[in-house]
Amino acid sequence: MTSVKLLYVETFGCQMNVSDSEKIVALLGKVGYHPTQDSSRADLIILNTCSVRDKPEQKVYSTLGKFKRLKNSNRRLLLAVGGCVAQQEGERLLKKVPYLDIVFGTHNLHLLPEMVRQAEDGKRLAEVGFIDGEARLDLFPVEDSTGGVSRFVTIMQGCDNFCSYCIVPYVRGREISRRSAEIVQEIGDLAAKGVKEVTLLGQNVNSYGLKSAGEPDFAGLLRQVAEIPGIERIRFTTSHPKDISPPLIACFAELEKLCGHAHLPAQSGSDAVLAKMNRGYSRKDYLNKVAALKAIRPGIQITGDMIVGFPGESEADFRDTLSLMEEVGFADLFSFKYSVRPGTGAAGYPDDVDGGVKQERLNRLQELQLKMTLETNKGFVGTVQEVLVEGVNRRGDQLFGRTCGNRAVNFAGDPALTGSSTKVMITRAFRNSLFGEVCESGGGIDVS
Ligand code: SF4
Repeated sequence: MTSVKLLYVETFGCQMNVSDSEKIVALLGKVGYHPTQDSSRADLIILNTCSVRDKPEQKVYSTLGKFKRLKNSNRRLLLAVGGCVAQQEGERLLKKVPYLDIVFGTHNLHLLPEMVRQAEDGKRLAEVGFIDGEARLDLFPVEDSTGGVSRFVTIMQGCDNFCSYCIVPYVRGREISRRSAEIVQEIGDLAAKGVKEVTLLGQNVNSYGLKSAGEPDFAGLLRQVAEIPGIERIRFTTSHPKDISPPLIACFAELEKLCGHAHLPAQSGSDAVLAKMNRGYSRKDYLNKVAALKAIRPGIQITGDMIVGFPGESEADFRDTLSLMEEVGFADLFSFKYSVRPGTGAAGYPDDVDGGVKQERLNRLQELQLKMTLETNKGFVGTVQEVLVEGVNRRGDQLFGRTCGNRAVNFAGDPALTGSSTKVMITRAFRNSLFGEVCESGGGIDVS
């Protein structure tokens, strides 16, 4: 009988990586590795890295340094690095980190079981080849469907947009969409296992299908998913403002299951900066699309991403960003200081906004967003929200779920409510969550 081997996966960055880590756990589960939250007990440690956020390589090296001690005390422990940093660094990582066993790129997840087997035999390996064209479609690993109420389903990968600050097209490759029949089948299987909510996932989901003859576009895919029995809620992330099309906007009016939330990364409120970022829309285009979404789905929650300190960003440009935030009224925002990604278009521009100025702008932006998020959340107090209950919260003292607009809600209740849509009266609001009470009397829903 083979002994149980333990796998510890540390995930950096975006939701795409979280989803890839789930696939890694599922793939390695098939060859005897069981997930653990305790890295000190692991037989295999995988760092699934991200190049999109701040100083990614330093973070990877410092995390590897932390695990060196474990490797020294357990010679059989295997260490692997995957994701975008692995894709960029390839074999160089093996040379720089002599105690590292495996490097695998963003297109090579399916090779992991065999790479791990060879590493168990003492080999050190790096595989970062890109797979392009139709062959890649067969390599989308099937999602792990071990349960839960809400699941992510990858519908496309890669990106063709080449925003000038972004490394994704270089480390994830060209955009490719999965076959719709396969996606619908996967979601149907998830629904049969009790999943109620799916989030369609990709680098730019709303350009889904545009390059695939005979496949629906993203709006068409949403309509197919909405037909799947058992699925009560549909979300998607992340989308590109330029690809928010009239048919997609219409879906927000016509598909009841489509949640009233759109994550729409703006990145800047200044036309000059947006042009330099190669985003393909103006401030006015962005605001028009937000207005159309709000008109067609009153109460829709808009969230976004913003970068401060992009090359050449003046104080006036930055103020345009702040004013755009106020015009949109973002419910929440991810915000970052610009930092150069070698090899991208923006790497050719002087990184000329002083570090102190970047930090000061980020502070101002986050202060404004904090105020707006709190105001948004307070606006829910006294309303009745339909909450899809995901389970018991981290503290273990209350139930946890989300509104259709993706606001987190905690409330006292029977854990048997997990998986159900429950009406909750919101009683208190904080920056990150809402608190409420189960609405015994039923009653109408106030806000989407
Ligand atoms: S749309 Fe732009 S920011 Fe988003 S992944 Fe593609 S290149 Fe990067």
